[in-house]
Amino acid sequence: MSSSSLELHLIYIQTAIKNVLQTVDNMKRRSEEISLALPMIGTGGLTDWRLQSCCNAASEAIWTYLKANSHSHIRHIHLVNDNAEITRILRDIFQRHEHREGPPSKVRDVPRTHSKEFEYHTKGLKLKETWKVQKMTDSSVDISKYFDKISNSSKDNEKRGKLKIYGDDEEQTFVSENCGICMCEMTDPVRLNRCKHTFCLECITGFFQTKPSCPVCGFVYGKIYGDQPDDGTASIYIDPTSLPGYDEKQTYVIIYEFPKGKQKSFHPDPGVEYEGFKRRAFLPISKDGTEVLQLLKRAFEQGMAFTIGTSRTTGKEGVITWNDIHHKTSKTGGPTKFGYPDSEYLTRVREELGCKGITDE
Ligand SMILES: [Zn+2]
Ligand SMILES: [Zn+2]
Repeated sequence: MSSSSLELHLIYIQTAIKNVLQTVDNMKRRSEEISLALPMIGTGGLTDWRLQSCCNAASEAIWTYLKANSHSHIRHIHLVNDNAEITRILRDIFQRHEHREGPPSKVRDVPRTHSKEFEYHTKGLKLKETWKVQKMTDSSVDISKYFDKISNSSKDNEKRGKLKIYGDDEEQTFVSENCGICMCEMTDPVRLNRCKHTFCLECITGFFQTKPSCPVCGFVYGKIYGDQPDDGTASIYIDPTSLPGYDEKQTYVIIYEFPKGKQKSFHPDPGVEYEGFKRRAFLPISKDGTEVLQLLKRAFEQGMAFTIGTSRTTGKEGVITWNDIHHKTSKTGGPTKFGYPDSEYLTRVREELGCKGITDE
């Protein structure tokens, strides 16, 4: 994904909002109070941390405008969208803002808590490898391998209402005549080769630069990156003892470590500090366990293993947390203690990784 295209996108959002507010204020008659509805345009199709960036940018544009125009007659702004995730993020941003009555970029003190000293020591264990977050370099990847050009001009095509049947396909596929992005009749139509959704060449090329997945069904084609802080490391050690349920197998110990830092523009509270973070996890050194380790490595490298948000266990805001990819943080105790034995665990975590587009394929 290209970070410059996201930045451009954010500038468009802010400029559009500023222009709308300015125009509305210029239309005012005498001292009327103004209410307006603002559609959250420009956020369509984005479903991950980029949404947070867009919402941060939108709310910042509103605050910046109102701060710079203290005589504005705007009293109510209704933010309109049809995406529950956007609503949640915006509500979160505005509640937080109201709570501390400062611009979102203001650095606030993070209360210190005395976290329990990290108990597991790796002294004496053999270090296998270390992982780091990879930089987003995927924008240069040739995306044409993900789709096939199709024809929409053949006169032989049988038409049924708005659906067209392409006869050159063995398992005749029904294809909507309109592009799923611009909603217009397709220009240079292409069909994504896995999910078979169709778009204009130009539309899907532009979309893939922001996020390499199908805008209709979400099928992931290229690498998607998460918002995990990029200065973390994971160290994988070999523990010669076995886990319950994996007798006679040795154990991988993953130590995740993040230094403290400040939230970036795409996090919930840009500029606010977060604490350092250290966690450990265990996997059996079995065929299955080794495969899962490779998937976890990709999740970590693509910045998807962790995120910044509210901790499920402590309820604390603005901390590094697990990102819905469950880890066994204990060797024993079974599922209720996040430990082994748990015969379903490796299957479950594969599914969770699959939801993030990380699969064996
Ligand atoms: Zn199109
Ligand atoms: Zn699709």
